[in-house]
Amino acid sequence: MNQPIPVTGKTRVYGILGFPVTHSLSPCMQNAAMQAAGIDGIYVPFSVSPAELADAVAGLRALQLQGVNVTIPHKSVIMPLLDELAPSAREAAAVNTVVWSSGRLVGHNTDGDGLVVSLGRDLGVTLPGKAVLLVGAGGAACGALPALCRAGVRSVLVVNRTLPAAEALVRRCAELYPATELHCCGFDGLDAGLLGGVDLLINATSRGMAGEKIEGLSLAHLPDHARVYDMVYAPVPTPLLEEARRCGLSAVDGRGMLVAQGERAFCLWHGQEPPSGVMGAALANLLQGVAKP
Ligand code: NAP
Repeated sequence: MNQPIPVTGKTRVYGILGFPVTHSLSPCMQNAAMQAAGIDGIYVPFSVSPAELADAVAGLRALQLQGVNVTIPHKSVIMPLLDELAPSAREAAAVNTVVWSSGRLVGHNTDGDGLVVSLGRDLGVTLPGKAVLLVGAGGAACGALPALCRAGVRSVLVVNRTLPAAEALVRRCAELYPATELHCCGFDGLDAGLLGGVDLLINATSRGMAGEKIEGLSLAHLPDHARVYDMVYAPVPTPLLEEARRCGLSAVDGRGMLVAQGERAFCLWHGQEPPSGVMGAALANLLQGVAKP
């Protein structure tokens, strides 16, 4: 392992804005990757309450921080405070990465592309032509849906507890990607016929973070070839993964997405790929021992 690079006046500073942010796994991944790449930088968590967000963004400018990640609850509200939004952020209606570029703060969203990378890398999914069931319509689903459309899926059915949220998400994406078949329903609209046509089920709800099941969702009617992706990454295995494995379906948790979205942010900030496998190894090390409740 490389020796830590001493912090000096030349060290570039990166970080994550969130509230709370103490639980964030990004500092561990980003610092490990910068160290392995020999980059003179440091990545730190910044606890920023909603009332302080505008001041914090002004602070980014004043201190010329090179880049930050943005997490709950700031992903949407930070958008009007930035100078420019990349298409990934506009389409997701959320920012998870800010880049300081020639004196301008540019918002990006790497969650959706991170999901797409992880689907291929960790679950062996080839997306073009696939029928997807996306469970959830919150921030994570908003990042996922346009990325799935860009990747060429044939159709996406968004199912959510609160139907208007799913309808709004589908409406927005249908304008951007008219070639993709987009539908939505509540959990009571899921029947064996619909489930039988699904190639890939993605959980983008927060169910599973405390060991809970997703009420109203049964994997029993999925076809044998269907794959299951749970964006929840701790504690693992989640109840959804356990059910998928009982049904004999290939399934993975969201650790690979967390790594891939971090790798995309690293590329945006440093103009180079992070050393292969370093972020994943740092995350695995950190999550070791995060047991099921
Ligand atoms: P969010 O914006 O708060 O959305 C939460 C979603 O969960 C909504 O669709 C909500 O439905 C649904 N939900 C909450 N409680 C529910 C319940 N009892 N039954 C059914 N649905 C319920 O959160 P988010 O930012 O989208 O994050 C969602 C999950 O994705 C979290 O577990 C997060 O850790 C994970 N995530 C992972 C990654 C990764 O890199 N692996 C990245 C981003 C997010 P309603 O609309 O009905 O409230």
